Order: sequence, then structure tokens, then C-alpha cells
Amino acid sequence: MLPNKLGLESNYKASNEKEINMKAKRLPSMVKKMFAEGEITMVDAETKYRYSLTAKCPEDGEYASVARYDKSGHSLKRVVFKCEICSTEFEVPQSEIMVV
Ligand SMILES: [Zn+2]
Repeated sequence: MLPNKLGLESNYKASNEKEINMKAKRLPSMVKKMFAEGEITMVDAETKYRYSLTAKCPEDGEYASVARYDKSGHSLKRVVFKCEICSTEFEVPQSEIMVV
């Protein structure tokens, strides 16, 4: 599959090689943990790198950062992303949230 920046790529089969360019990774266990702990960032214990939640904009496929979020008790209930390219605000299922 050729990289297509404009494509709507909510494809679970997206290869990791491609994601490395943008540094975004699918780490479902980390995303789950961040939701459970109510954090939108998390430091990797090994690398000390701070991961942030990100998701692909439904309009242009660019990676968007967290615009705001709601908590339910201690954990995250919903996260709204905002694309820096087109300013679209959107939500995606937790399964489509990545870290960068
Ligand atoms: Zn966008």
C-alpha cells in the first residue's frame, strides 16, 4: 500500500514502518492505560520519552493533538482531537487512538 497523506486511513493493517515517519504508534495497551489513569500523556519508563495521545484527522489524515477531554472519575471518558492543519475537531474510538 502506498503512503497517501490525503487518504482516510483508519486501517488497522497500516504498517509500523510507515508510522515511524510520523512517530505515531499504535500502542493499544498504553492508550488503555492512559485512559484508565486519566492522563493524555505518559512517560515510557525505559526511554523516558513522553508519549501523547494522537489520532488521524478524518478530513485530511494528518495527525491531530488533544484539544480537550472529559474525565469520568479518575479515568478519561472522552478525548476530542483538533487537527492543526484544518482545525477540525473530532473524536475517534479508543481503538483508533495512537500515541506520538
Ligand atoms: Zn485536518
